[in-house]
Amino acid sequence: MWQVVGHGMAVSLLERSLERGLLAHAYLFVGPPHVGKMTLALNLAQALNCEAAESPCGECVSCQKIALAKHADVQVIGLVGNGNRADAKPRAEIGIDQIREIQHSSSLPPFEGRYKVFIIDGAEQLSTEAANCLLKTLEEPVGMVIYLLLTTNDRLLPATVVSRCQRVELPPLAAGEVEAALNGRWGVESRKAKLLARLSHGCLGWALSAALDDGLLQQRAERMGRLLDIINADYEERFTYGAQLVAQFSQNRGLVQEVLDLWLDWWHDLLLVKVGSSDAITNVDLEATLVEMTRGYNLGQIKDAINSIQGAERQLRQNANPRLVLEVLMLSIPGGKYE
Ligand SMILES: [Zn+2]
Repeated sequence: MWQVVGHGMAVSLLERSLERGLLAHAYLFVGPPHVGKMTLALNLAQALNCEAAESPCGECVSCQKIALAKHADVQVIGLVGNGNRADAKPRAEIGIDQIREIQHSSSLPPFEGRYKVFIIDGAEQLSTEAANCLLKTLEEPVGMVIYLLLTTNDRLLPATVVSRCQRVELPPLAAGEVEAALNGRWGVESRKAKLLARLSHGCLGWALSAALDDGLLQQRAERMGRLLDIINADYEERFTYGAQLVAQFSQNRGLVQEVLDLWLDWWHDLLLVKVGSSDAITNVDLEATLVEMTRGYNLGQIKDAINSIQGAERQLRQNANPRLVLEVLMLSIPGGKYE
């Protein structure tokens, strides 16, 4: 049984290829972070090496070894090194040495399974030399060796590499699917399962991490509190907050991106409440606050705020001056009831 939750299209495509013996030599799994790319890759590696009639069984020695990252023929390559030999420090990119190593390994027959499977996690992080080196391997496939490239964004990969892989899209799951899995398979209490499912935006891996680590929900509560304060703050306080975001941005772009995403969710929820679609909101635990805040805005103001945040995100991606972008954003968010 395939362990991956959802992704029925991808699973049936892979199952059909397995049944007919028509597997590609390389697959490219494309989807947002934590959507299930690695789970699906490990499942496919299990299906290829499973000892049971109904594969992947998840229970035979081979399936278990793969699940525990202890199978000699299944290797994960990424920023933390190759296979079980993790580098002391995470790398900035996947280097040519790592690709040469798997090339050498792929020239040897499988040690304990039927297929050698190399999973390249975060394939968009391949250095140019590493990508070129990998391309040669993909152009001259050998039997019983399969490459699985995982990426959040295939446009960051050389087109030549992409064209050598069969592309498999893993879109976000439906919120209901995540909620049912959290509740049914992992025993997460219903209300929490609903909230995490919404906050995860269909990325089950994130929801599971948040179910196990309360720190993620605490962090979100702190950030939300700050954002709600800012809506009601005067311009001086907004500028101070903007300056803090600018300082953060120079240290860690991702953090600021997360804050803006949170803000975008909030204003999107305000829009949904305004048009009477409260069922679809993300911040289900803050519905009362949303309803109250919606009264202070008209539809045009809410839409403008959404456009401003989306515009800021786009400009930051295009390397605009972060101080300018974030300061303008702080000024363009319409004030709340205290203004
Ligand atoms: Zn098995």
